[in-house]
Order: sequence, then C-alpha cells, then structure tokens
Amino acid sequence: MSDSNKWDTIVIGGGIMGSWTAVQLLRAGVEKVLLLEKFPLPHTRGSSHGATRICRFGYPQDHQTILARDSLQDWFWLQQESGQQIIRETPLLWTADAKNEHEMTHALANIKNLCPQARVRVFEDPAVTSISQEFPQLTFPSEICASAMLDNSAYVLMADKITSLLRTWICQHGGVIKDGMEVQGIQVDGNEDVAVETQGQSQKFHAKTLVICAGAWAKPFLEMAGVGTLPLQPVKIQVAYFQEKPGQKHPHLSQIHESSKYNCNWSIPSIEYPGLVKFGPHQGPAINPDARDAVDAEGELKKLREFVAETCQALDPTPKIVETCMYTAPDSNWDLLSEKSWPLGLKEEKFLTNCQPCLLQDLHNLSSKQLAEKFRSMWYLSEYVHIETCKKNTTSRAMLKDEIPPV
Ligand SMILES: Cc1cc2nc3c(=O)[nH]c(=O)nc-3n(C[C@H](O)[C@H](O)[C@H](O)COP(=O)(O)OP(=O)(O)OC[C@H]3O[C@@H](n4cnc5c(N)ncnc54)[C@H](O)[C@@H]3O)c2cc1C
Repeated sequence: MSDSNKWDTIVIGGGIMGSWTAVQLLRAGVEKVLLLEKFPLPHTRGSSHGATRICRFGYPQDHQTILARDSLQDWFWLQQESGQQIIRETPLLWTADAKNEHEMTHALANIKNLCPQARVRVFEDPAVTSISQEFPQLTFPSEICASAMLDNSAYVLMADKITSLLRTWICQHGGVIKDGMEVQGIQVDGNEDVAVETQGQSQKFHAKTLVICAGAWAKPFLEMAGVGTLPLQPVKIQVAYFQEKPGQKHPHLSQIHESSKYNCNWSIPSIEYPGLVKFGPHQGPAINPDARDAVDAEGELKKLREFVAETCQALDPTPKIVETCMYTAPDSNWDLLSEKSWPLGLKEEKFLTNCQPCLLQDLHNLSSKQLAEKFRSMWYLSEYVHIETCKKNTTSRAMLKDEIPPV
C-alpha cells in the first residue's frame, strides 16, 4: 500500500459536520487527516448550504442546551482565527400555542439553569398584546400564541461562510480535502484498519479511524460498517424568502413558532438577501437524498405562506425565492441517542446509555484502547446524533479530549 493512501483519520462528508470534525482532529494534533466529499465543493445537495443558521440555547432537553452553550467558544475561535464575522447577535422570539407551550417552558428552564448569563424574558400575559406592543408588525392571534419568550442571547451563524473558512483552515493546517470523490465502500477489519473505496473501487484509502459525516446519506454507511441500522429518515425542507413590503421593515429577530395550526417553523431576519426574510418548516416529506427534488413539499410551503400572511404584516406573503435543503431525520427526532434507537449489539454493551451527555461521559471515561475496541476503528458521527450545527463541534472536541485510538 502506498503511503499516500494511508491516513490517521478519514472523514466522509464535507458539510459542516465533516469540516468541523477535520478541523478539530487537526487542532487535536492528528497529523494525517483526509476529508472525502462526493460532490465538487461547494454544493447545495446536502444540509449545510445557505447563508445563515440559528444558534440558540433554549432547547427542551438539557443536553442540547449544554452542547449549544459549550460550542459557542469554538464559533468565536473561528471568528478570531479567520478575521471574518461569522456570528451575529440576533434576538430570537419563540411563540407557541397552549398545546405546544411545554417545549418552550422546558427550554426556558434550561436556559435559566444552564446559561444563567443568558438574557431571556417571557412576554406578559396576554402574550399577543405584549408582542404587538413591542413589535407592531407581528400580529399573532391568541389561538396560535398562548406564550412567548424573547432570547436576547441567540445568534445567527453565517453558514456558507463558515464551511468555506473551515475548508480553508483544513488545507492550511495540513489536512487534505478530496472533493468530487464518492465513497462507495467501507471495510473495517480486526486490525483497526478501515479501508475506504471510492468511485468504483478505483482508489482505496486506509486509515486507523473513520468518521462518517455523510448527513442524509449516513444510513447505508453505518450498515456497511457493521454498526447496524439507525432510524434515520431524511426529509425535504423547503426554505422560502419573503420580501418586505415597500417602506416597511420586519423586526430584526429570528423566530420559532409552534402551533397545531402551523406545525413548527422558524425564521431568520433579512441578513442574506437584502429585504428578504427567510422562513422554513421544521418538518417535511420523507425523501431519498438522491431524488429529493422529485418529492413535492408544497403542503409545508403553503403553511408558511399562510403563517406569514397572518402574522407578519410587513411581509408580502408570496415568496420571492424558494430553496431546498434536507434534514437527516425529522427535527422532532431528538433522541437518537436513547438506547432504544440503537442497534442491539451496542445496546447490550451498555456503551451508549440514555442521552448525549452520557455518550460524551462514557467516551471521556474510556481509555483509548477501550475506545478503539468499542468502536473497533470507527467513530460514528452524524447529524442528529450530534443534533445541530451549533453543537457539533463541541461534540467532536469532547471526544477528542481522549486520545485518538491507537493503531
Ligand atoms: C433549511 C435548514 C435549516 C436549518 N437551520 C438550522 C439552524 O438554524 N440551526 C442549526 O443548528 N441547524 C440547522 N439546520 C441543520 C444543519 O444545517 C444540519 O444539522 C447540518 O448542516 C448537517 O450537516 P452535515 O455535515 O451532517 O450534513 P451535510 O451538509 O449534508 O454533509 C454531508 C456531506 O456528505 C457528503 N456525502 C454523502 N455521501 C457521500 C459519499 N458516499 N462519499 C463522500 N461524501 C458523501 C454529502 O455530499 C455532503 O456534502 C438546518 C438545516 C436545514 C436543511
């Protein structure tokens, strides 16, 4: 085997997850890191494209809040390292109807307990009146808004800029990115060697460790690598941009809304396209990631249009731009790390216990030898195992506090 085909770690997937993973490996001192991406970069076929993402601390489950909170230092690290603005303070308004307000209540408790420095406040009852006094352009009927909170400690991340900066950093620090290089096979052998076959087996790479960050495409790789079948079902997310009416301004807020009438949606203020406010649903139709455009997501788009027409007086409710993205699993599927979600083999070993902090804790407590044995030579990382962009780098870093599994 030629030396140029031997690596310490191979990362599959050049989205935000794979890019951060490669950066964190290099920061941790791993020397030979290869990132393989099937499409020429940058591309818009996965989950990470688009100019912006919300970074928030209010999550219904405490481990999500902890991960989001702890990842902040890495976003600021990247901002300082690159000299580019990648993170912008942007308040977040969360509204919910009576049936869905419990999520917000849990999120609020988590922010207060785990991020005591966060600046968050609840709107006085009746929430709809308090909101329209402060933001006259927002007109929520009480049937869809029983409670509301404003998180002044939320951010918007400049997503496309970030992935591009991470890739540059990787190349400047000794990592290698090969794009247009589709991984087609994985073989994990007993000697802690992983063989990765690309493009019709014409090229084979070997590594001690493999990290799968293939997003919506992750499931078959896990099966190939012998990890088993995880309940990952990619869904199509259609994002719509609504224009401010002439002479009117939509408030400079991100939003999350949950109600029986409109399901769950989010929005990001006019940061990427001047005068256009971005809205997206948290749910969408199930898809095959290679045929995502064949599936109609008009139902979710219609709900967004109706939501904008009813609640956002400064916006024209006909979207000017519609873009497509994917979630690796439905957004409600927070708990892929719960035991019941995992393949039997792992469950029986009690390696992965109830939730994410346990996973991190276990990884901290395991020696590198145990870690290598448990995962053989493979770590598995994927979108909803490490849940959202803002938390992923934390997770990678936490894992890397332990030694890299030995050869
Ligand atoms: C519309 C939308 C809005 C979102 N908003 C937020 C938000 O506000 N806040 C937040 O935190 N998160 C948000 N998310 C979620 C976040 O964007 C995703 O969690 C994140 O982008 C997932 O990144 P990833 O690297 O796992 O997946 P991807 O970006 O899809 O990367 C996976 C990569 O693997 C590559 N790949 C697949 N198969 C192969 C192969 N065989 N060989 C080589 N490479 C392969 C793919 O081409 C792809 O580039 C949003 C997602 C969407 C779609």
